Amino acid sequence: MQISWFRASLAVSAIVLAPLVRAADGPAWPGPAFPDLRTAGQVKLACDSGMRQAAAALRRLEAVAPSAGWIAQYDAFYAVTEDAHGPVEFIRHVHPDPKVRDAAEACELRWQDFLTRVGQNERLYRAARAAEPADDIDREALRQTIEAFEDSGVGLPPARRARARELANRISALGQQFDKTIRDSATRVAFTPAELVGVPASLWQGARRDAQGRVLLGLDYPSYYPVVEHAQSPAARERMWRAKMTEGGAANIKLLGEITRLRRDYARLFGFDSYADFMLRRRMARDTASAQRFLDDVQQAVRAGEQRDLAALREAKARHLDQPLEKTTLERWDVLFYTERLRKERFTVDEESFRPYFPPQESLQFVMRIAETMFGVRYTPVPARLWHPEAQAYAVSDAATGKPLAGLMVDLYPRDGKYGHAAVWSYRSGSTLTGRLPQAALVVNFDRKGLTIDELDTLLHEFGHALHANLSATRYALNAGTSTQQDFVEAPSQMLEDWVFDRPVLKLFAEVCPRCEPVPDELVEKARAAREFTKGSLTARQHLYAAYDLALHGPDAPEPMALWQRMEGATPLGHVRGTMFPAAFSHVAGGYGAGYYGYLWSLVVAMDLRTAFAGKRLDATVGRRYRDIVLGEGGQRPPQQLVHDFLGRDTSPKAFYDYLAR
Ligand SMILES: [Zn+2]
Repeated sequence: MQISWFRASLAVSAIVLAPLVRAADGPAWPGPAFPDLRTAGQVKLACDSGMRQAAAALRRLEAVAPSAGWIAQYDAFYAVTEDAHGPVEFIRHVHPDPKVRDAAEACELRWQDFLTRVGQNERLYRAARAAEPADDIDREALRQTIEAFEDSGVGLPPARRARARELANRISALGQQFDKTIRDSATRVAFTPAELVGVPASLWQGARRDAQGRVLLGLDYPSYYPVVEHAQSPAARERMWRAKMTEGGAANIKLLGEITRLRRDYARLFGFDSYADFMLRRRMARDTASAQRFLDDVQQAVRAGEQRDLAALREAKARHLDQPLEKTTLERWDVLFYTERLRKERFTVDEESFRPYFPPQESLQFVMRIAETMFGVRYTPVPARLWHPEAQAYAVSDAATGKPLAGLMVDLYPRDGKYGHAAVWSYRSGSTLTGRLPQAALVVNFDRKGLTIDELDTLLHEFGHALHANLSATRYALNAGTSTQQDFVEAPSQMLEDWVFDRPVLKLFAEVCPRCEPVPDELVEKARAAREFTKGSLTARQHLYAAYDLALHGPDAPEPMALWQRMEGATPLGHVRGTMFPAAFSHVAGGYGAGYYGYLWSLVVAMDLRTAFAGKRLDATVGRRYRDIVLGEGGQRPPQQLVHDFLGRDTSPKAFYDYLAR
């Protein structure tokens, strides 16, 4: 996942900046230090002063005549707004103090209103339309800017324009509430020690207990997966699975229903039948019908593989329980458990056995080393006072010239009140025109004991988004890095997804961790084979999420649970009554609404991009071309063109369908 909070709108500035920090003998953190936002009061002050500065910058921009240089002036305003808004918006997902998070959320709603008003600013819209582009980059930046104004409702009659603003603000507030329900729930599931047989003892022996001596575990990934993958007790697995599948609860289902209805209403203001139609016209897919056709093709291509996977899991369950196959039903909470058993049996691989080889901190250095090897860059830690003592800061520089390129902050471990998935916030966009260097934050939730190889892969995926932000070299901030089309933005991350199964790549681990024992080649080979084994069922699940999201944002904006019951109910494992997966489907409540298909859509492109690295994943020459053409150009040229220039041909889905058929 990657999150950029206001693609295609505006910008920003200044908050009281803490002094620049510099390592004793290394590169400095490039650009302003992350602002001091340690108390609710500081957040409020930063919010007030940031909004004042953005308002002043807006007045200055309104006075600029639509000349050839107008887009550069607009981009400067964008940068001012982003600096004022970005860090506050980010901190609400990670700050340990709930008062700070609440203050940041209140600030975020003020910004939402400000940004919506800017989006409806007629004077700026007229200037954008009258401005003369000097070249193709200007033309693209202007086109995107004009479209962003139009999608904000600047061209609507006054009453509908006001309604658009009201809807946009309301949708933001509801999305915030949706995330908050999950983040602040602090749900604990109780297990007797006997129920946890099979689960690595290191996970739960030190955990809190209730009055009856039962072990209390949260729903964070490092707690959830070991239980559903390894607990021998079906009751324990079911309880944990059900708790995760009801996360967010009925309150969030209600919010999701309201969000999707308001989005549909928003689209109707513009004459579209559905939110999906409204959104997809700006994307690679171009329209809902094309995205739907694509999803139908994927479903066809994975059907046989999914059936095969599920039959193997059911057969494994029958053998495990020593009961006839015809009397055996595979339940949803069995899937991960029997997947793990079969992986052990068929491929003799146990995900847990990877943890000692991949300690979290060294795993981070490892993915940085991959980037250093492929892209000619350096990651250097720099001291910084951040939102939590364990958060870290890195300066990114060009290896050949030493030129500073970017700043990256990293937050590795789970804690209460912290965003629970993996994401990157590119809260400051770079611009070559003004020498503004990008900054981003990478947030993940790993087990302190180490990562499995799948988690290492997740880290590399997320780091791929950070690279897209760090290595952006666009003229304008508004086109930087991940500000590309949403159904392309996952591709650079997904491209790296099989890197961790490659022997030469894994050899780099020794460079960052001389004390770590090298992971045995056979173990990796087995993990790679085991991964192939579940691709049918995993892709089928992604298909369900994507198809659900598109249907939810269709013309009738159906009630979320009824739709989910129908769609999940039509899959081979059916729907389990009482569960409500969509209640925690933050992607769809947030920025990926009508966009979840983008994960599969981008994967097609990602697999095609990989062909350029076939047999030479660490090749610095191909890597450099990739850095310059695909990552560096961000959103300043359409993704189809970037991919064409990098591959020397139009993109093709062949690699993707070959993979599914293999
Ligand atoms: Zn992602």
